[in-house]
Amino acid sequence: MSHDPNCLFCKIVAGQIPSKKVYEDEDVLAFHDIHPWAPVHILIIPKRHIASMADVTEAESQLLGKMTTLGPRLMKELGVSNGFRHVINTGHDGGQEVFHLHLHVMGGPRPWLKG
Ligand code: 5GP
Ligand code: ZN
Repeated sequence: MSHDPNCLFCKIVAGQIPSKKVYEDEDVLAFHDIHPWAPVHILIIPKRHIASMADVTEAESQLLGKMTTLGPRLMKELGVSNGFRHVINTGHDGGQEVFHLHLHVMGGPRPWLKG
């Protein structure tokens, strides 16, 4: 399925729900997470509906490569200079809440760490 009308992130791709976009091309969209866990927290998603990493096949390897390499580029553009994390939650036990594949990219200083 390329678009799921009941999916929150498909609605964001379609512009039916607003988002703070940081990057868009024909395959992927990146936008700020609505409840950031880090000073800079973006989500990178495929525009096509893929429910989770459990649904990914080798046919998606180029798309996943694009998503993961976009992370460092966008962190740099957003002024993150001292490291960041990539996280993909998969399935119920993996903590996934939105079932449209998304890569969390989180950067910026962690105030709870000293030095
Ligand atoms: P998950 O737990 O599925 O890996 O992460 C889902 C993420 O989507 C959460 O970090 C949550 O804050 C974010 N999120 C949920 N609803 C919205 C929304 O409507 N807009 C944006 N920008 N982020 C959302
Ligand atoms: Zn979707």
